[in-house]
Amino acid sequence: MNLAEPPQTRQESYFEPNEERLKKEEQRLKDDLELLLQIYLAGSISKILAFALGLDIVKNARNRIVDMINESAVETGLREITEISNEFLKMIADDLKKFLDGIEDKTLSVERQSFFINLLSSYIIFKSLADNTELLARTNSLTTLLWVIVDDEKTCDLCRENEGLHDITSLPPMPAHYSCRCFWILPGGQ
Ligand SMILES: [Zn+2]
Repeated sequence: MNLAEPPQTRQESYFEPNEERLKKEEQRLKDDLELLLQIYLAGSISKILAFALGLDIVKNARNRIVDMINESAVETGLREITEISNEFLKMIADDLKKFLDGIEDKTLSVERQSFFINLLSSYIIFKSLADNTELLARTNSLTTLLWVIVDDEKTCDLCRENEGLHDITSLPPMPAHYSCRCFWILPGGQ
């Protein structure tokens, strides 16, 4: 073994997300929510219907992330996961409700509406990725996960501190904040 090499290299990992596909899913989610917003603002659908459709869009995006994880799982010989988290949907439902309320009582400017959709889309994708990668590790009785940061001038101190290997029994919450771009890698050799 070469001691100059880090103990867990990317080549040894079971799973790491496909960056390009993540970006595509994030954009698709943004586009879907923007379109829904336009239809709602045009008065074509009720608030209740907009809420239901919004939740469906979010569920579908999350399911696509689960599919992405399971495709990698199969490739690397891991057991597939099934999506189970209701907590996530409850949280997103609250956010969607606040968003639609803000539009109805006109406290949410057009700029804020776009900002919210961008922020929420990114959060949904990265939260879905983190939750389900953790689930993939548990499903396969893996004991550690590697916190990976996107290292640039925007990376915050909190995420830098979290970078590295964590025991599955004490994982720090990921995403660490809105706009967090961190993700888990399942290290190999477990
Ligand atoms: Zn982060």
